[in-house]
Amino acid sequence: MNPLSPPARASSVSRRNFIAQSAAALAAAGTVAQLGARSLGADAPPASDRKLGYAFVGLGSLCMNQLLPGIVQCKHARPVALVSGHPDKAKQQAEKYGINPKNIYNYQNFDSIKDNREVDVVYVVLPNSMHAEYTIRAARAGKHVQCEKPMAVSVAECQQMIDACKDAGRKLAIGYRLHYEANTLACIKAVKDQEAGKLQLIEAGAGFSIGDPSQWRLKKALSGGGCLMDIGIYALQAARYLSGEEPIEVVAQTFADRDDPRFKEVEQHCNFQLRFPSGVLASCVSSYATGLNRFVAHTTKGSASLDPALSYRGVKFRIQRPGQPEESPNLPDIDQFAAEIDAFAQCILTNTPSQTPGEEGLRDVRIMQAIYQSAESGKTIKL
Ligand code: NAD
Repeated sequence: MNPLSPPARASSVSRRNFIAQSAAALAAAGTVAQLGARSLGADAPPASDRKLGYAFVGLGSLCMNQLLPGIVQCKHARPVALVSGHPDKAKQQAEKYGINPKNIYNYQNFDSIKDNREVDVVYVVLPNSMHAEYTIRAARAGKHVQCEKPMAVSVAECQQMIDACKDAGRKLAIGYRLHYEANTLACIKAVKDQEAGKLQLIEAGAGFSIGDPSQWRLKKALSGGGCLMDIGIYALQAARYLSGEEPIEVVAQTFADRDDPRFKEVEQHCNFQLRFPSGVLASCVSSYATGLNRFVAHTTKGSASLDPALSYRGVKFRIQRPGQPEESPNLPDIDQFAAEIDAFAQCILTNTPSQTPGEEGLRDVRIMQAIYQSAESGKTIKL
């Protein structure tokens, strides 16, 4: 499959193929509830010529295939250090990206990164249950932190991460790449401006067919949960940024075929419905067993949608206005990871708040915990 082509709708594809198809954005966005209030790039902070030094912790798939290729396109950031448990892999990546081999750390000597003045920011790209520890260690080493989604596996951990960064006087951002993606921002704006009427219902689907049963994503202690924590979080984000509201109530169901070696510990599907204060309802589906990649905002006179919605390349905004054929504006398809890193680097350089701060990550984790609580109890959970 051409990694640059948009994925097939609702087909069952591997994570790498599915996710490797996606792309990019410009524009500093807003926190989820504020996104719709901003126009594309309108309030980006002034540029600076300085490039901040990034250290990447965890040389796995996302880091090697997306973040390192992304950061080399950045205007305000460059890779200067690597943290890995595999010295050979780290050496090879260091050579590839022109990183000084003296700036290779492992998980044991990681704290000595505090003495490395070349490193301004630590990017945590580890299994979910390790995010809190490495974010807190990085903050205590005096570094700003960018951390992958989901922020952590509990609300308490999220709060500790926020507190550690605040105590150290350092900034914290969560890797919500779609907040920096032009089609996503255009869709949010169209819904907010009621271009196709008033928002009524949201449908959001995020899923892929997971492979190797031995991977950390399928071990609850490392992942914190199944498809919801990993990919369903995108459907939750969509419901929040398309409505521009915070949910007040959730009801959910999960399913796992325990005879399938992949789903011994975590859920295979997680469906949830959110109620928002305005009366908007969001129906969200997530899966580790089928491809789902579409967000739709149904409005009184049409719809605004993202299809594909969460791919690394080729996210597409579509709008259906009354009595008109569906339109799909030709918006830029740039590297989402470069955009996300550059946006955070600019926040640091200009001492402005991140648009996707730790507080935003915490909100999602809190709602996901309520989703699991609802699925377990069979009850509606008030938020
Ligand atoms: P991966 O399995 O490819 O990489 C994980 C890395 O962590 C590996 O380098 C591995 O060696 C290291 N590691 C250290 N201790 C480990 C342990 N005890 N068990 C397993 N691995 C250990 O995973 P990934 O796909 O790169 O995901 C990393 C993080 O990035 C996750 O939090 C994931 O949710 C997030 N992610 C985000 C996106 C996105 O679009 N923003 C996409 C993929 C992954």
